[in-house]
Amino acid sequence: MKRTEAFLLDLDGTLYRGTEVIPDAPDFLRWLIETDRKYLFVTNNSSRRPEQVAEHLRRFGIPAEAEHVLTPSMVAAQYIKEQGAGNRVYVIGEEGLRSALIEAGCEITDEQPDYVVQGIDRQFTYEKLMTASLRIQSGAIYLATNVDKALPTEKGLMPGAGSLLAAVATASGCQPIVMGKPEARMIDHALEMLGVPKERAIVVGDNLETDILAGVNAGVRTALVLSGFSKRDHVAETDGKPTIIVDSLSDLIRLVE
Ligand SMILES: [Mg+2]
Repeated sequence: MKRTEAFLLDLDGTLYRGTEVIPDAPDFLRWLIETDRKYLFVTNNSSRRPEQVAEHLRRFGIPAEAEHVLTPSMVAAQYIKEQGAGNRVYVIGEEGLRSALIEAGCEITDEQPDYVVQGIDRQFTYEKLMTASLRIQSGAIYLATNVDKALPTEKGLMPGAGSLLAAVATASGCQPIVMGKPEARMIDHALEMLGVPKERAIVVGDNLETDILAGVNAGVRTALVLSGFSKRDHVAETDGKPTIIVDSLSDLIRLVE
């Protein structure tokens, strides 16, 4: 575990839990900064702009800047740019997705789009579903930011981007190309941003099915932190096995220092 240069950090369940900071998260970030490690906050949340994600973290006392944030909206924007197959996009999504696409030079339109890009959209309607389905049937390429079915809240599980994905995929008869974790694409993108080879990086997260599987899919080491969603007993039942399991971020420091 020595010589770990780059840390790809999950947010909810790893650095904070809902509205509460995880006690050693601010110190963990300070340790990364003091020891000159490279790091990125790698989130599956497409709704916020990087600056909003950083601001959210700073409210928990966690040092964070927009340049250290990677969202699946940014990965989608980059994907469209690289493909060179047009830049007209029909969007089902919120501010974070729209702004990432516009910054990458995409034109947001519901007329003859080259892509339908879908993330979480808390203003989702039948009309949006219909438009997405019709445009995909006419040949637009369907991209989804992430497959998370539900978002845990104090009230219970709220529908996530994956629930809207199920509607669009069912209506159009087409499965999307997915940008976020557990796809390797998100981790590859993060390593490219940091300029670090796979062997020097580690994915840190609380969810076996998204964070850890993303690392496994990308061939990067992983640390499961038992501060959130996945528990030690879940490890035996999943495909993506973590390289290490730690109770806390302080334990992780001891293993990589
Ligand atoms: Mg998490």
